[in-house]
Amino acid sequence: MAENIIVIDGQEFSFENGETILQVAERNGIFIPTLCYLKTGATPTGACRICLVEIEGARSLMASCTVPAGPNMVVRTDSPPVVRARRMNLELLLASGQHNCLAQDQDADSWTDFQLKVLKDKEHEELCPAYGICRLQDLAIKYRVRTTHFEPSETPFPLENINPFIVRDFSRCVLCGRCVQACNEVQVNSAISYGYRGSESKIVAAGDRSLKESDCVFCGECVQVCPVGALVPVKEFVPETSSAGATKIRTTCSYCSVGCQMYLHVKDNKVVNVTGVDDVSPNYGSLCVKGRFGYDFINSADRLKIPMIRENGKHREASWDEALKLVAEKLAKAGGDSVGVVTSARITTEDSYLAQKLARNVIGTKNIDHQLSQSSRVSGLEHATGSGAMTNPISDIEKSDVILIAGSNITESHGVLSSYVKRAVTLKGAKLIVIDPRKITITRFASVWMRQTPGTDVAWINGMINVIINEKLYDESYVNSRTSGFSELQSSVAQFTPEKVEGISGIPKDQIIEAARMYAGGKAASIICGMGMTQQEGGAKCVSALTNLAMICGNIGIEGGGVNPLRGQNNAQGACDMGCVPDVLPGNRKVDAPGLSFSHMMGKAREGALKAMYIIGDNPVGSGSAQTKASLEKLDFLVVQDIFMTETAQMADVVLPSASFAEKDGTFVNTERKVQRVRKAINSPGSAKEDWRIICDLSQAMGTAMDYDGPQDIMQEIAETASSYAGINYDRLDTDGIPCPSTAEGSGTPRLHVDKFMCGQGVLQAVDFIPPKNAPDAQYPLYLTTGRDLYQFRTATRLQESAGLPSEPSVEISMEDAVACKVGDGDTVKIASSAGEIHMKVLVSEKAMKGTVFIPLPFAAPLDPAAETLEYKACTVKIEKA
Ligand code: SF4
Repeated sequence: MAENIIVIDGQEFSFENGETILQVAERNGIFIPTLCYLKTGATPTGACRICLVEIEGARSLMASCTVPAGPNMVVRTDSPPVVRARRMNLELLLASGQHNCLAQDQDADSWTDFQLKVLKDKEHEELCPAYGICRLQDLAIKYRVRTTHFEPSETPFPLENINPFIVRDFSRCVLCGRCVQACNEVQVNSAISYGYRGSESKIVAAGDRSLKESDCVFCGECVQVCPVGALVPVKEFVPETSSAGATKIRTTCSYCSVGCQMYLHVKDNKVVNVTGVDDVSPNYGSLCVKGRFGYDFINSADRLKIPMIRENGKHREASWDEALKLVAEKLAKAGGDSVGVVTSARITTEDSYLAQKLARNVIGTKNIDHQLSQSSRVSGLEHATGSGAMTNPISDIEKSDVILIAGSNITESHGVLSSYVKRAVTLKGAKLIVIDPRKITITRFASVWMRQTPGTDVAWINGMINVIINEKLYDESYVNSRTSGFSELQSSVAQFTPEKVEGISGIPKDQIIEAARMYAGGKAASIICGMGMTQQEGGAKCVSALTNLAMICGNIGIEGGGVNPLRGQNNAQGACDMGCVPDVLPGNRKVDAPGLSFSHMMGKAREGALKAMYIIGDNPVGSGSAQTKASLEKLDFLVVQDIFMTETAQMADVVLPSASFAEKDGTFVNTERKVQRVRKAINSPGSAKEDWRIICDLSQAMGTAMDYDGPQDIMQEIAETASSYAGINYDRLDTDGIPCPSTAEGSGTPRLHVDKFMCGQGVLQAVDFIPPKNAPDAQYPLYLTTGRDLYQFRTATRLQESAGLPSEPSVEISMEDAVACKVGDGDTVKIASSAGEIHMKVLVSEKAMKGTVFIPLPFAAPLDPAAETLEYKACTVKIEKA
């Protein structure tokens, strides 16, 4: 027999060194049952002994998940001794705890009767909530185990039902350890482990506390992988919200830009559960707390159901015809560039495409944008490389040997993507450099953590480049062959010595040197930057400087490298690609005469120059400053299209009820430029309609027909109009998304700039450091920074609907500052800036850096002095007891 050939059930198969028997069998379609085995990559434990196989010459049966395939090995997966052993092990598992689902059916006369009874009893309310979806039950049925000859053991541990989202039933736990592996090796949250010994064994959170009191972040990975009924969503215990009998529809998450693939479990036109789609990128079954448990908003009774028109200061119900006629008249009356159209990074790509088409071709305005659009912030990357998008796929993060994260509280804002970073560090030995003033969770994994003074990012980046050039650590051949502008860059960073940068940024000079050497020393070093970089006055400069850093080290266009600005919302990339920005048409074609950006629209509205506004799927009053509200109040006419009566909708003259992501077909484009399907799972409440349909109807009311059979039809037009979407259609997106730019044949581009930059030669750009406008002074002595936290997302409208998601915000402050301000933990305080004031509880935390306080993004809006969300990362405030 040839080398690396194994015989399984009489068939010869080749194998790779290190592959287990189970992996070879699975790869070749031979079924070996498993229970504790998690997935390729996780360490197999062999705990359940269900995957036993017979190996010729071996003295006993072996767990196929742990035994490497060997040359000339002869394996039987289904021989009588194997089946006997599996049945015995199943009996033992069924006896470990309370698994009454089979035991109660002993009276059935025949095996068929028994199976029928099991199926019929699915509705039995006393049964385990995992009844019908339990792997142990499935295996017991498959191997005809109806009873157990062993005395069932009693668990000494009571049911834990005090957590948000998750119930732990220790009486059903078979200690297979899948949840521990999922927590430690997949999501790398390390919240649970094995505790105690022998019959007292238990899966515990640190200190044997409840999940609620532990480091658990409620990503629910443990629930997803639990093969029995030991870890179950809280809602499964309530008959109305149980997912028994639900159908599953695959779609894309509507929160952040990772674009996790998920199943919506639907029953009676309601979403009753959400699970991750296994074996598909980018999440391979994982979700974060928002994606997995933040879906109650879809079923909310407060959803808008009927169009409304404001009359005498109050909203009254109206028909679609009446509402659209009024909107058409008012927009036409305001006319062309006196109208602003604000879209959202949450609506689908197809909705976005039609919104800009309506704005430019029907209303006749150039003024179209979406809030917090990052397009201008990544212009430095675009100028340098030809594209402002993330250069590398998410999967490349695990191929990096150095990762630099700047301005991203990644574990809370992009939970599933952060797992890639954590796995790279803990399982693959990558080095991590984190730059953030706060002691955010990802700093636990960092080799170097630099705490900069807000607003000084260009200085520390230039400082790192200075060290790399002075110590000749840069990639000279890459710089010479692929870039231009090196000598200008070299002169511009010469002044940014580590000593000088320490003075500007507060980062010790030795740390800057260490980080520079570490980054330059990586074979493949990846830069990930978040809104902490882009949502500030000098955001574009920060991204330019980071691009310089990557380019001089030869890190763009290689596997595991790249400059990767994370988009915030689910379809921020799609909104930009479709031209929902003032200076770009679909397919990133520049316009000759750009319209007004969102912030400029607000300014013109305040001046009375902008008369009417159409806002689709966003709530700028909820996320904006007092000036935003004042601007909208000045308009002659405001129409808002949304799923809830948001703060902005309350101000509208006409409110149009739209469909949530669960109620429509379309696509979202994730942060790695991958176009992925969104699928309709339920019908919208009342007469709410999909955004694309409302836009078409409005266009018709304005005298221009927009006829589409549906989103698929719109995508066809996009593929013909935007060259970067060439060849994309729903058939090709059915099983997996396609990263743009795509070809006419439908293949995508996971990694940009591989042989040459999209602009040809990469452009190194000298970047000046300009100190932040708002520095602390006697009146406002503290910096305020903002960002996402785990349970908050944008204006919080959707998350507040999810039972159990904590929503009371607090201001996070260091002990030193709390003492200086004479405030204590839990006090209600007044936080004031030059723009406004808010009241909030104090959280004294070691996360906060002295001199800088933090407030979750949706709640800080009234304090923003720029009124344009430009200085969210460096505004100054004072704090006093309320
Ligand atoms: Fe949704 Fe983002 Fe969480 Fe994935 S990481 S489940 S896309 S919010």
